[in-house]
Amino acid sequence: MILIRCPYCGELRTEDELTYGGEANIARPAETVSDEAWTDYLFMRTNPKGIHQEQWCCSAGCGQWFKVVRDTVSHRILDVWKFEEVSQAAEEVA
Ligand SMILES: [Zn+2]
Repeated sequence: MILIRCPYCGELRTEDELTYGGEANIARPAETVSDEAWTDYLFMRTNPKGIHQEQWCCSAGCGQWFKVVRDTVSHRILDVWKFEEVSQAAEEVA
C-alpha cells in the first residue's frame, strides 16, 4: 500500500484517499501543433521501472495536487512537495 503525506494539509493518506495523476511535468504544447505532437502530449509517457516523478491529488482531504518522487518497483516515496516548491530529489532524478 502506498502512503503519502499531503504537503498541504499534512495528513498521511493511503492510495485509496489519493488520486494518481500520472507523470509530472508534462508540458502542454502550443495551440498550433501537429497531430503527432498533440497525440504525444495526450498519451505518451515514460513509464519507467524505478524512480519516477508523479502528481497526486489529496482527493479525500484538501483537494490539492502535489508532486511525488516514487520508486515504481518498491513504491518507496523519496520526496513529496507542493507544486509551487522545488524538490532536490526531483532535480537529481531529472
Ligand atoms: Zn491534503
